[in-house]
Amino acid sequence: MMAAGQAAKAGANVLLLEKNQRLGKKLAITGKGRGNLTNSAAPEDFIAQFPGNGAFLYGALYRFTNEDLRRFFHDLGVPTVVERGGRVFPRSQKAQDLVDALQKFLETCGVEVRYGCKTTAILQEDGRVVGVRANVVNFSADAVVLATGGASYPGTGSTGDGYKLAQAVGHTITPVFPALIPLETAETWVGTLAGLSLRNVTVKLTVNGRIVAEEFGEMLFTHYGLSGPIILTVSRQAAQALSKKQPTHVHLNLKPALTAEQLDARILRDFQKNIRKQFKNSLNDLLPQKLIEPVIKLSGIPPELPVHQISREQRLQLQKIITDLTFTIKAVRPLKEAIVTAGGVSIKEIDPATMASKILPGLYFAGEIIDVDGNTGGYNLQAAFSTGYVAGLSAAKA
Ligand SMILES: Cc1cc2nc3c(=O)[nH]c(=O)nc-3n(C[C@H](O)[C@H](O)[C@H](O)COP(=O)(O)OP(=O)(O)OC[C@H]3O[C@@H](n4cnc5c(N)ncnc54)[C@H](O)[C@@H]3O)c2cc1C
Repeated sequence: MMAAGQAAKAGANVLLLEKNQRLGKKLAITGKGRGNLTNSAAPEDFIAQFPGNGAFLYGALYRFTNEDLRRFFHDLGVPTVVERGGRVFPRSQKAQDLVDALQKFLETCGVEVRYGCKTTAILQEDGRVVGVRANVVNFSADAVVLATGGASYPGTGSTGDGYKLAQAVGHTITPVFPALIPLETAETWVGTLAGLSLRNVTVKLTVNGRIVAEEFGEMLFTHYGLSGPIILTVSRQAAQALSKKQPTHVHLNLKPALTAEQLDARILRDFQKNIRKQFKNSLNDLLPQKLIEPVIKLSGIPPELPVHQISREQRLQLQKIITDLTFTIKAVRPLKEAIVTAGGVSIKEIDPATMASKILPGLYFAGEIIDVDGNTGGYNLQAAFSTGYVAGLSAAKA
């Protein structure tokens, strides 16, 4: 949508082919329906949020910045606000407003949109693009922008078609795998915690016993394992490790703000308060209700033991569980559930200044189809908008 509008604004005659019956199905569900369209981070920090080929985005992000994107939507009647962690949302808190604004933009710029139109081939003649085939009809064009998204959430339209289309004209597709994906644990008891969300906790991801990522913030338990922002952030590395069959664990610290001494003092204070109670009834202030039973089980301390009989060793064991609750990661959820697809059209074959294919003149790429992926926080949408902006303007000149 961004590419089509920018190309038309620059004077091109633009046809947008969308296989769904409406535009922006995925955009409309982003940010839990609130549309986290970008992040207010400064350029260097912004790029650092792309574990997958961030450097490729330098040119595009400088040409169409997060500020430019906010101004773009503001001018279309969608003012934005910055929330915690620099996350930018429409002030209305409605992702659909972004879709509606883009649709208005397309209309104003004179883009023709065809719905229910699935592109099945890129047409070439004498070594350059001459159009596309969609619904068994050939459309001729001087330039084609491929912006078919990744391979996750296929219900929104992104079923990975673009990878096949690009491959058919000679592009390399680096293996796609889920990034920003919930994790499945071997410990099935985690299911009893489903729905519990934790704030201000730390997770460490270890692969072969070595810490490879550490995040502080919010997470969520599900019936199959772990999810929520900090889990999604470490999930890319978990997916890579699991694909190599390396032992992968998440270590959860429920009280990262406390030193060992402070936590011990805190536990002692709670024990003092509950001195006449059994151990199982002494943790209500320290832990969320749902976590009490599993923590007790893992601590090995008999639940019925009177608090005053708990030894120092047992207390230290409890402390260990609270600061290092360990989960064995057996799998990531399937690709179709990923927030973003890692891998895609190789960046080596795309000119980062124009988004032009280095393989087939007249072909351009934008968005998640490119082998670039970022963390949660609005980074992926900004990447899609910035690359779309550049691809659209470049294609208009073709
Ligand atoms: C649940 C969820 C929440 C998310 N939340 C956020 C967020 O808050 N912030 C953020 O930055 N990112 C978020 N993302 C990621 C972000 O939505 C994507 O990275 C972004 O939408 C990619 O944009 P795109 O235009 O490349 O692809 P898409 O948005 O997937 O659009 C591709 C379009 O191409 C169409 N298409 C595909 N194949 C064909 C074909 N053969 N012919 C014709 N049309 C075709 C599809 O129907 C679709 O409309 C979220 C993703 C998900 C799944």
